[in-house]
Amino acid sequence: MKKIYLETFGCQMNVLDSELVRGQLEALGYQFTPDLDAAGIVLYNTCSVREHSENKVRSRLGLLKKRKGTEPELVIGVIGCMAERDGVGMLKRLAHVDLLCGPGELDKLPTLLDNVFRTRRQQAALAGNTSRRSATLGAAEEDGLELLDLSRSFSASESRYQAYVRVVRGCNKFCTYCVVPHTRGPEVSRPPESIIEEARRLVAAGALEITLLGQTVNHYHFEHAFASGPGGPMKRRTSFAQLLERLHESVPELARLRFVTSFPADFGDDILQVMAGCNRICKYLHIPAQSGSNRILKMMNRGYSVEEYQGLLERARRIVPGIALAGDMIVGFPTETEEDYQLSAKLVAESRYKNCFIFKYSARPGTLAIRRFPDDVPDEVKRDRNNHLLHIQNAICQELNRELIGQTVPVLCQGPSGWVRATDS
Ligand code: SF4
Repeated sequence: MKKIYLETFGCQMNVLDSELVRGQLEALGYQFTPDLDAAGIVLYNTCSVREHSENKVRSRLGLLKKRKGTEPELVIGVIGCMAERDGVGMLKRLAHVDLLCGPGELDKLPTLLDNVFRTRRQQAALAGNTSRRSATLGAAEEDGLELLDLSRSFSASESRYQAYVRVVRGCNKFCTYCVVPHTRGPEVSRPPESIIEEARRLVAAGALEITLLGQTVNHYHFEHAFASGPGGPMKRRTSFAQLLERLHESVPELARLRFVTSFPADFGDDILQVMAGCNRICKYLHIPAQSGSNRILKMMNRGYSVEEYQGLLERARRIVPGIALAGDMIVGFPTETEEDYQLSAKLVAESRYKNCFIFKYSARPGTLAIRRFPDDVPDEVKRDRNNHLLHIQNAICQELNRELIGQTVPVLCQGPSGWVRATDS
């Protein structure tokens, strides 16, 4: 059987998708290789959030075109967000690409590969503008993507101390600059029982830390089937705070539980109270602000003001003493003035994040921002603002790190790299 080379771009959600794809194909007898030249099937699991990431994939596909000329049996697949965003147009432009599979259709990948071998014709599985999924998953057997999550392989020999578990798929927020709601579809919450079972199996296979994943993880809510109560049928719902607490109590062997990424507008104090009360939930909150200017936040359709965001950080620090906060910032959003930017710099300086991910605005096809707003901040200005914000954040990181000198804290060793380390928060 042909060997598969799989390369992953983008966020933790893609890392998890690649792991699930790998488990699914290995169960069918496929083998994986880290050597591109030794592979008969090449899969790129792609990200569309920034143009830079898509350009990397285009360049790799360009290099493979030559190889396909001399090796026509080579199978090339593009999976993930770029496949969904670009759609079948990509197959027309790049005749040497054999298959496309969107992130909401990954359970169909084995069938697509079979069809490519059988027919030698291009294949695609894309959600398009419709989604076959409902906001809350019911019976797992009805949903192939849920089965993909559940079919995860747990190898004791390949022991991993850190693992991801998806709790919410997709996103309903439609921030004007973002492709995710278009590529990953609407929010869908997984059943709590499936999540707890997956966590138990990961811990049994050696995981010490589990990170729950969702684009807007705090939006998690699962509507259970009606149960009979004293006054007739009762509706039951599991909120994100309840899910966290249940996981913490149901999997006592799990040393550390964390979650990313939270959306500021709908972050309830109930979650903070659970974090404060459960000693194995990491006191860490990744809560992106994206801008310190209310005018820009409105253009981004973020749904909160700077003052509301700061109120959340204040509550988090009060309810969960010692909490470490992390942020995201975009610089150079359309029409961002020096004054807007200075407000972002002020917010970063005042928030004292443990770490902050800073990005230059990248206009993405298919988003509202590209249609509605000119990408009018020159690249040099974006770069200068990016560097300035990094400078502010680096100084804060150094101060926070210096506060740890002389303290003894638990550390999770994740691997041999001298730079990979994580404290309890
Ligand atoms: S919350 Fe906004 S930025 Fe985050 S994935 Fe959803 S649309 Fe994109």
